[in-house]
Parts: sequence; structure tokens; C-alpha cells
Amino acid sequence: MEENHADAGKRSKVVLIPCDTYEEEAVYQALKAGIGLIGGLESLIRPEEKVMLKPNLVRKAKLSRPVVTHPAVMGAVARLLKEAGVKNVKAGDSCGVGMATAAAAAVGMDTILGKYGAELVDFTGMGAVPYENGVQAKSFFLSREILESDVIINVCKMKTHALERVTGAVKNMYGCIHGLHKAKGHTLYPSADSFARMLVDLNQFLKPRFYIMDGIVAMEGNGPTSGDPVHMNVLLVSEDAVALDSVFCRLVNLKPELVPTNYHGEKMGLGVWQEEKIELVLPEGGKPREISMDEAAERWGKSDFRVDRRRIKSGNWVRMGRFFNVFQKKPYVDGEKCVKCGVCVESCPVEGKAVTFKNGRKSPPVYDYKKCIRCFCCQEMCPHKAIKVK
Ligand code: SF4
Ligand code: SF4
Repeated sequence: MEENHADAGKRSKVVLIPCDTYEEEAVYQALKAGIGLIGGLESLIRPEEKVMLKPNLVRKAKLSRPVVTHPAVMGAVARLLKEAGVKNVKAGDSCGVGMATAAAAAVGMDTILGKYGAELVDFTGMGAVPYENGVQAKSFFLSREILESDVIINVCKMKTHALERVTGAVKNMYGCIHGLHKAKGHTLYPSADSFARMLVDLNQFLKPRFYIMDGIVAMEGNGPTSGDPVHMNVLLVSEDAVALDSVFCRLVNLKPELVPTNYHGEKMGLGVWQEEKIELVLPEGGKPREISMDEAAERWGKSDFRVDRRRIKSGNWVRMGRFFNVFQKKPYVDGEKCVKCGVCVESCPVEGKAVTFKNGRKSPPVYDYKKCIRCFCCQEMCPHKAIKVK
């Protein structure tokens, strides 16, 4: 039976751990305290279970850019698992472009995980699984490596996202979909709402044991790969992905219900976004101290964090505008930054491509907005920050 946080009657706990450095020992101590407040690893995982850590390894990037989950956070989780006697620990992802092991090696994640006996893997195998209980998705093509693990620990990154406004705990599970089917998923679920409902189904199907968010340095603006770093100085830990993402929203002055994965996540019973249903705690002297969202926002929040806060408008004029392709978010290429590498064209999941080179590669690619489904894969995958959304 599905676990239903929304109906459970009790509040979902989210632990906020202040941490302003990626120094390994400091991150380890912070996470140890945070995981302790949701029961500790010994109560969450049995030593004989096969554990898969699921970081955000969307694509290869420099360590100085907040694109992927920081290796110090991954190392701290691996160290805690080793200390808890868990022997079979892997970490992996299915990148948008390239291989996860290469993206991990680029930031030194392989070395730090290796220190604690955790193995990095690429999600290359594939298994098709039906999901009759799915609201939006009735089946998934999942990575075999994910299907072979007993426990998933979702170690996500605090970032903005063009389609879903933010990417955090719920969205991070999309990397469990097998590579070839990730692009197809955007055409099957082309709107922010349908894509969010599919993500909620995916979380309910895979049931990560718990979620950790790396918000020490977050990404604002043109996320999830081309935005700018912001020091938020927090780690968040929870068993409820929706509650965790909602705390992230409150810290960046964004109404949680405007994020489709939160709105549908609560409606579909994955978790809760409403403030009165969340117990937000800080570790203090090994014990939890409850704090209000307002206090958290005042102490760790950034009210001017650059994220899309606009309400979605409805009405006849807007519907007509959509029909004629106006008043809609659109990707566009900044010709000065574009190096004509073609990654955006490769990433476009639409048959016949909605972004193409018109005269060889003499000039930057151009969009056919009639074909474009606004999935923003091109913007996400451009390695040169040359695609923006207007
Ligand atoms: S991915 Fe970016 S840099 Fe490469 S062709 Fe597309 S817009 Fe230009
Ligand atoms: S052009 Fe970009 S936003 Fe439009 S469908 Fe293709 S990848 Fe998605």
C-alpha cells in the first residue's frame, strides 16, 4: 500500500542543518546530526540491504559551479553508511549528456566515495516495469541498477528549473529513468503538470528511503545548469520529498504550491507542502529544536533568490495567447555565447527537432516554436550557458 503522508495525520519532519562549508569533516558532522533526528541510519537501513545513492549528476561541470551534488555531501553519506555497517553501497545516475561516472570524476566524487568503499556506476541497464497505481504514468523504463537495489537514498541539489521552477528531491528521481526513455518522457508528459504528476508516480513507485538536499551552495537564475551560485548554507534531510522541497521554496521566497511537484505531490499523497503539516527542526546539542518557517526564512532565506514566482494566469486572452504561441515561456539562443556545438539539437526530444541549424553550422541554431513543447531540455543541456528562457 502507498505510504500517504497527507493522510497520516502527523506532521512530516524536515531537518534543517546549518552548514556554510564543503569541508569534509564539517559536512559529515552536519549530516550525522541531521540524519540522527529522523531516526539515525541504524533505524532506517539494515546492514545487509543494497543501497543506491542517487545524486544529481545532470551533466559534467566544474566543481566551482553548483550543477551537481557536491562530492563532500556524497562522501559524508557513504562514510555514515560504512560506519553503520552497510557493505553494499553504490552511487549512480543517468546523465542528460555523457556518462555519470565521467560527471562524478570531474568533481572528484569517485575518489571520495572510493575512500568509504562505495562504487560509482552508470545507469546503463534497463528494465520495463508496469505501475498500475500510477495516476499519470502506468509504466516506467527504469535503470536496471536501480531495480537491483533495496534502498535508494536521494541526495539532490538545490537549484532552479525552467519547467518546474525548482528541482529538488522529487525531480531528482528522473535520473532513474533509463537514458533513452528520458527524452521520450518529455514528449509523453509535455506540460509542467503532467510531468510533475509522472515524477510523483515515480517517487511513489521507487520510494526512496529518505532524501538529503545539498543547499550549501545552491543555483539561482537560469538553472538547472546555467544559473549562478548562491550560498544558502543549509543541508535539508527528510523522509518526505514534498515537505523537503517546500522548505526549500520557503527559503527562497517562493510559494510552495506554485511548484507543480509540490501541488500534485500533496494531492497524490506523496507528501505535504502546507506549513502547518510540516515540523521543521534544527539539531541543537543532539536534540531537535522546532523552528517556524518564518524564523528559518529570516535566518537562512534569500528573499531575492532569482526564481520564477509568477502565478500561472488563466482566462480567454491567455488561452488565445497560448494558441498563437505568445505569453509563453520560450527558450532562445544568445548568439554571443553559442559555440555551435549542437548539444541542444541532440537533446531536443521532439521528432524532427524543434531547434535546428539552418545553414550548416555557420550560425547558431534557431527554434521552431510551433513544434517546441517547452520541455527546456535544450536549455538544461547547453554546456555554454547560451540558452535562456524569456
Ligand atoms: S548547445 Fe548551446 S552552445 Fe551548443 S549549439 Fe546549442 S545553444 Fe549553441
Ligand atoms: S526546442 Fe528545446 S524546449 Fe523546445 S522541445 Fe526542443 S528541447 Fe524542448
